[in-house]
Amino acid sequence: MFRFTLILSLAFVYLGLFGCSSEKSTPSTAVNYEKAKFEWKLVTSWPKNFPGLGVGPERFAELVKEMSNGRLIIKVFGAGEIVPALEVFDAVSRGTVEMGHSGAYYWKGKAPAAQFFASVPFGLTAQEMNGWLHHGGGLELWEKVYAPYGVIPMAGGNTGVQMAGWFNKEINSMADLKGLKMRIPGLGGEVLARAGGSPVTLPGGEIYTALQTNLIDATEWVGPYNDLAFGLFQVGKYYYYPGWHEPGTTLEFMINAKAFNALPTDLKAIVRAAARVINQDMLDDYMSNNQKALQTLMFDHKVELRELPKPVMDELRKLSNEVLDEVANADPLTKEVFESFNAYRAKVRAYNDITERSYMNSRH
Ligand code: CA
Repeated sequence: MFRFTLILSLAFVYLGLFGCSSEKSTPSTAVNYEKAKFEWKLVTSWPKNFPGLGVGPERFAELVKEMSNGRLIIKVFGAGEIVPALEVFDAVSRGTVEMGHSGAYYWKGKAPAAQFFASVPFGLTAQEMNGWLHHGGGLELWEKVYAPYGVIPMAGGNTGVQMAGWFNKEINSMADLKGLKMRIPGLGGEVLARAGGSPVTLPGGEIYTALQTNLIDATEWVGPYNDLAFGLFQVGKYYYYPGWHEPGTTLEFMINAKAFNALPTDLKAIVRAAARVINQDMLDDYMSNNQKALQTLMFDHKVELRELPKPVMDELRKLSNEVLDEVANADPLTKEVFESFNAYRAKVRAYNDITERSYMNSRH
């Protein structure tokens, strides 16, 4: 009892002293810290509010605003509003803007390893990518790849399995890919080059005109939801599947490291949590809207759907493995990323053969 009273007395003395001193002093820095407000700019590689890709960063900004009670305001800009679509990485790296939203394979010229964090031909599906990134060591490697540029990456959405694309001639054999000028980014483009085609990297906003004016013979973009929005059915004859080159493309949030490190701990946690929410939400958006858009393309616009022949797929897979082996040797860090990715792919494939694949086959 005596001991309890003593502790209570000491506590009152302590509170009393603390109370007196705080009344006389200026508000503590901790209070200011919590009230600090931040305004960021986020540039994207997509048209403003473009279905899926462009909506994701908008929802991210809204979510961060609500979660932070208005302490972190992020203004989203479409491609070309501050910087062109394919200069998003540089803008974030330089600190021209605090954030970007894009696809990591666009930066293969800077860091070949970046491509593994977007999509790899015959690589991981959306669900598998999320597993590798968040519970398989992938995100740590991604952070390591971007660290020299002062950029912090976070997964920022996923399209699911894409379509092979729009072709103005039929693809019946590998010979049909020879000389084919096709808009196809990243490692898929390198595989096409190995098959004798000419890959072109163009931002989404330029694809329609390029196909319409025969600057290219074929293009891939994303899937029905986005391809319908761009009206690609008006300029492409055959709509091929599946998207062997992009089986589960992860989009990315990029954050200028100095800007991120200047945030208080709670805002950092809010940014990370909101990115995880949007990463999943975009995939849900695609799953729901892709199937609706495909119906519209097939039944309202009479689009001719074609499956790539098995011999073509088998050969593309062989070429893809050759390309991956070569890209892996670009530098030690790319090798490290490739080995992590490849080991995960082997394990998850074996597992998904008896779960996802088995179930999907039995559902028919
Ligand atoms: Ca694509």
